[in-house]
Amino acid sequence: TVRTRIAPSPTGDPHVGTAYIALFNLCFARAHGGQFVLRIEDTDRARSTPESEQAILDALRWLGLDWDEGPDSGGDHGPYRQSKRMALYGQYAWQLVEAGKAFVCYRTPEELETLRSERREAGQATALKPSDLRLPDDEIAQRKAADMPYVIRMVVPEEAGSCAVADRLRGTIELDWSMVDAQILLKSDGMPTYHLANVVDDHLMGITHVIRGEEWINSAPKHQLLYEYFGWDMPELCHLPLLRNPDKSKLSKRKNPTSILYYERMGFLPEALLNYLGRMGWSMPDEREKFSLHDMLTHFDIDRVSLGGPIFDVEKLRWLNGVWLREELDETQLADRLQHWALNRENLMKVLPHAQKRMEVLSDFAPLTAFLVSGELPIDDSDFDGLRGEREALVRQLQFALWRLEALRHWDRDTVWQALKALADDLGVKVKDFLAPLFIAISGSSASFSVVDAMELLGPDMSRMRIRHAIA
Ligand code: ATP
Ligand code: GLU
Repeated sequence: TVRTRIAPSPTGDPHVGTAYIALFNLCFARAHGGQFVLRIEDTDRARSTPESEQAILDALRWLGLDWDEGPDSGGDHGPYRQSKRMALYGQYAWQLVEAGKAFVCYRTPEELETLRSERREAGQATALKPSDLRLPDDEIAQRKAADMPYVIRMVVPEEAGSCAVADRLRGTIELDWSMVDAQILLKSDGMPTYHLANVVDDHLMGITHVIRGEEWINSAPKHQLLYEYFGWDMPELCHLPLLRNPDKSKLSKRKNPTSILYYERMGFLPEALLNYLGRMGWSMPDEREKFSLHDMLTHFDIDRVSLGGPIFDVEKLRWLNGVWLREELDETQLADRLQHWALNRENLMKVLPHAQKRMEVLSDFAPLTAFLVSGELPIDDSDFDGLRGEREALVRQLQFALWRLEALRHWDRDTVWQALKALADDLGVKVKDFLAPLFIAISGSSASFSVVDAMELLGPDMSRMRIRHAIA
């Protein structure tokens, strides 16, 4: 039976790209009467967080992309979280060492850097091959005796030539072996890399079709080789085109909101977002624009995916959402949606601590907090007039702030505050003067509550979007 999977890494906010790939995996599995699995790839212990995992699960569920097996729902092929499968990966890595398909490598980071820079200077491809990394036997024995850290790397072909990888949508892809390095399989701390864990798990979980973003095509030769080394059947590969910004570059949070949480907060309907993601490189046989998940499941045919980079255009999504909102919801349903979306008690309770101390009458509430349930705010140049500093300088400050905020890995009041404070210090601007223009960008007015509190409540994508809009 057909089994597909989505394998997100819980290292940040849930990405619309993850939902897009999940949607196509779900449809493919259903179209073939198969199963769809959710696996959490959390081997990067420094960057993975339980909050991110929870947010990914919640976001996929909000969209209605339900999985048959996963970390929360169980199944016969668990555990479904890689951090719970660690013993397995070590075992398989050593199995390859014993078979001569992988080797223990004691090279130090400094030696690796030297090797790489030598090759750069010689103008050679930089992929390091097993022979480049080899050390004399006595040196290995010495390093072993000294208990030096080592990694396990895979053996890869050294001679020129190309590797042919079959892709469901692209036919045979030829990739040059010279680009493929002796990939680390097991790191010095005993953790597997993505490549090892991904192949081992896809095999053990009985995955028959790997449907993922095209960014992974270059990894396919390594994966194919690993399947060969283990003597396992390789799943069929299908690399979907990546989502793109309207300017054709890869969709990225620097240009567009990419977090599903943003789209939820902005008030997009999950049905409409799914509909739009379904149109990314795919269309219904009758080309209709509005269709439900059920329609898509019924008519799905992966061979109808077109490879031109699909453009994720928020304006078009907005239009489609409007169609759903007007055509599919009656007033009662719309009232329920609004209440569920932001006009609920839980949300009020988050806002009130900030609003209450600034209220005299209940009717102060709406003007004080409207910016928290809004999208883009109308801002014009004159809004900045009362502030210290030339508009140009203010815009520059906001741009710097935006860059700092894009680099943050966590988003809470303190982290945001520290980042902004540090930047103000670097620029030699008083924090108060520094926050003033940010305040206007975030809240659209100067009469509101603490900008850092507001940013925490709005979340990273909405906050960044507001700043981008203010300086556009
Ligand atoms: P950004 O450039 O916005 O930081 P990113 O590439 O760093 O994005 P990741 O956190 O690496 O984003 O990706 C999260 C998930 O989203 C991955 O599974 C990745 O495959 C998927 N993804 C990221 N960008 C795209 C895209 N443009 N199209 C489809 N999927 C994407
Ligand atoms: N963990 C990888 C990711 O974050 C999975 C890639 C794959 O599907 O093989 O996208």
